[in-house]
This record gives sequence, structure tokens and C-alpha cells, in this order.
Amino acid sequence: MPQRHPETSATDRLVIVGNGMAGHRLVEALLARPERPAITVIGAETAPAYNRILLSPLLAGEMERSALILRSAEWYAEQGIELVLGERVESIDRTSRRLTTDAGRELDYDRLVLATGSTPARPPVPGLELPGVHVFRDLHDADALARAAEAGRNAVVIGGGLLGLEAAEGLRKRGMQVSLLQREDRLMNRQLDLTAARLLESELRGRGLDIHTDAQLERLEANAEGQVCAALLADGTRLAADCVVVAIGIVPQAELGRVAELEVNRGVIVDEWLTTSDPAIYALGECCEHRGNLYGLVEPIWRQVEVLADKLCRANAERASAERAQGYVEKPTATKLKVSGISLYAFGPTEPEPEHEVLSYRDPQQGDYRRLLLRDGRLEGAVLYGDTASGPWYFEQALAGRDLSDCRAALLLGAADAQALLDDASNESPQRPAKEAA
Ligand SMILES: Cc1cc2nc3c(=O)[nH]c(=O)nc-3n(C[C@H](O)[C@H](O)[C@H](O)COP(=O)(O)OP(=O)(O)OC[C@H]3O[C@@H](n4cnc5c(N)ncnc54)[C@H](O)[C@@H]3O)c2cc1C
Repeated sequence: MPQRHPETSATDRLVIVGNGMAGHRLVEALLARPERPAITVIGAETAPAYNRILLSPLLAGEMERSALILRSAEWYAEQGIELVLGERVESIDRTSRRLTTDAGRELDYDRLVLATGSTPARPPVPGLELPGVHVFRDLHDADALARAAEAGRNAVVIGGGLLGLEAAEGLRKRGMQVSLLQREDRLMNRQLDLTAARLLESELRGRGLDIHTDAQLERLEANAEGQVCAALLADGTRLAADCVVVAIGIVPQAELGRVAELEVNRGVIVDEWLTTSDPAIYALGECCEHRGNLYGLVEPIWRQVEVLADKLCRANAERASAERAQGYVEKPTATKLKVSGISLYAFGPTEPEPEHEVLSYRDPQQGDYRRLLLRDGRLEGAVLYGDTASGPWYFEQALAGRDLSDCRAALLLGAADAQALLDDASNESPQRPAKEAA
């Protein structure tokens, strides 16, 4: 009987399903470690891994397609990695440890990583299946949207979150008249308070975006050729649309896990070592679910990658940094918007709780706004619009759970002033750090 969990070595075959951002980053992390398994990567997209985040500047015409590619197919070959592109894994036989692609290819694995990402969510609205209705997830979608912008005049974007805003701005920059529908009372309602959202809305309106908040989409209509031609709202508003983009959120692509009868809730369930209910199968990125959490930004995914790379290179697991000794641990994430000319940075709750102390600052002339939420002198949330230079410093203080009482007076002025007060206070009082650490 062959040993199914051999020590990590070149005879240990690791198959990674998905050549997206998580799958590719895992490859890079494995290559950086001394002892790694033999690797095969299978990706459903025909292009080798690219920086999906940059699809927004690509759509806006601010970046060349070639700048998105992370590594070429030749690079994979040079690293001795087998790369299979344009094939979708359809099934996993966990007993024989064999998977099958839609092209009929069969591949054996010792260990398997699911890095299949997510798919765009679609609202249950009549007309969503019409030609001319797009999503914005991959290179193919970006190409299709660029073509739609050449052919048509009016676009409707459904969704006022990060992705919807970036898609809307991209199409506007390509010359389309864009209407943006947001179901909630404000743009980016998961990240921004009302003031910052209104500032953002007014900036975007000034650029020519037609923004509808509290918008209830009733249906999409087709013209005589069967092509989408309008979006109809519950209040009777009718918006002309040669092209519609659905950007209301994402759904983990967990089907492969379901078919293989792994434990799946919304995503493929993993523990802190990114291990699924089958100890030979791991999952990471947007397809996985860890303690009820799902993922939609790369920052937590990068931390998952490091934990999993340690785990997959067993020798390295023993040397893993103290930071990763606990495996993957949830941490808050901060959000930025990638629309050129607009800076915003946010983390933590959007609305204050009764125990929060709220500090805010607004300079209408400069277009700056800052709002901080503190609990017992510690920062729990921030919304910055305009000058966001201090955002990472605030985030760092929040992550460290640092008591900022000593620099409260300068907190809204930004990182440099606040840090100077903190430094002064710790010089004057050597006991201070002990208090902070408590
Ligand atoms: C336009 C856009 C802008 C974004 N901007 C930001 C940003 O500014 N900041 C940020 O943090 N995040 C951003 N994101 C989100 C970020 O791109 C994702 O969090 C990240 O790509 C997730 O990585 P992943 O590997 O889990 O999924 P993906 O990158 O989607 O990779 C999954 C890959 O698996 C493939 N696949 C799926 N099923 C199979 C199968 N059965 N067989 C083979 N292959 C399969 C898919 O085709 C895909 O290539 C943005 C996303 C988009 C779409």
C-alpha cells in the first residue's frame, strides 16, 4: 500500500485548481520555500495568472493588458511547474485521489488545493439573461465591456459598491453615459458613513455619473432584436441601456467542493490550516469559508497563502514564523477605492455604537473628511476621504489595539502629529508601554 502522506518531496504531487490570484500567489510562496512538492496548476481561464485587481484601470483605459500578467506560461515551465490552462476541473474522486477536467484529462494528486475564487452574484430580476448584460470578473468581461463601450452610448451599472463604482467609472471614461443603481441609501454602504458617501457621490455626479440611491430595479427590457435596451425601476424610472453591468457582490465558487462531498456552507469550509473536511484537500481565497467568514479582498488571502505554503512544505512548517504558528487568524481589513482622482480609506464599523467616541474633521474647501471611532481610547474604525495619507497609520494603531488617549488632541491632524504626541508621552513616562501592553 503506497504511503498517501509522504514527507514533502518532489514525488509528492500537489495539484492546485485555479490559476487566479490565490492559486498563483501560492505557487510563488511555495517556490520561495526550500522543500516543495511537485506542482500542477489547472486554470479554467485561457490566460496565465494576472492581477485581477487591475481589471478596473484596464477597463478605464489607464493600463495596458500586458501589465496585468503576473507570470507567463514559459515562466511556469522554467520553474518545472505543469500548467494546464483553459480546462475546468469538473469532478474529484477522493478515494482514488484523481480529478477530471471538462476536456476529459485525468490527473492524480497526493494533495489538492482548491483556489477557484468566486462568481458574480446575480439578482433575481427579469431580463438578466438578455444579451448585453455583463458581469465584471475577468479579462474576458473587461474585453466585452470595452467592446460594448465602443458600440453603445448608455450603460447601467447595478451595484454601488467598490466593483460597481470602478466599472461605472471605467465605462464613463470610455465615453459612455452611465447610470449607477444602488439599492441602499448611500454608495459603498459597507465601508462609508453617510458624510463620506455623500462626498463621493457628489464628486462622481460632478464627473457625469447618473447615480440613483435607494433604487429598486424591477426588470430589464429588450428591444426588437432581443438585446437589452432599458432598466426599469420600481418608481417608474426608465433608464436607457445598451449595456448593463451586474456588480452586486460575489458568491464563492464552491461547486467542486460540493460535488466532491466536502463540507461546504456558502464556501468550502476550512480550518485555521486551510484544510477542508478531507485532510488531503485544502482551500483558500474567495472559494473558502473560515469560521463563517468569506473573502473578497486580497489582503486576508495573502495571509492564507503563507499559512498554507508553510503547511504544504512540511519542513518549513516547523520553522514557520511565530506570527503563523496559530495558522490563519482573522484580522480586520481596510478598504481603498481605485478610482483615479478619488482617495478614500476606511476600516471598522460604518455606524458608531453608543459606547463609541466619535471624532470628526471636515475641510469643505480641500474636500477632506475624517471620522474616527474610539472605544476606551482605542481606535475601532475610521473613514477618510480626500487626504488619506494617515489611513495606514490609523489602521496600524487599531490592529495593535493601542491606547491613543495621549495623542487624542492631535489624532485628527494625522499620523505625524499624533505619533509625535505619543512619543513625547512615552518619553515622559517610562511606565506607559506597560499600560499599553496590558
Ligand atoms: C475588477 C475587480 C477589481 C478588484 N479590486 C480589488 C482591490 O482593489 N483590492 C482587493 O483587495 N481586491 C480586489 N478585487 C478582488 C480580488 O481580485 C479577489 O479577492 C481575488 O482575485 C481572489 O483570488 P482567488 O484566487 O480566490 O479568485 P480568482 O482570482 O477569481 O481566481 C480563481 C480562478 O479559478 C478559476 N477556476 C474556478 N473554477 C475552476 C475549476 N473548476 N477548474 C479550474 N479553474 C477554476 C477561475 O477561472 C479563476 O481564474 C477585485 C476584483 C475584481 C473582479
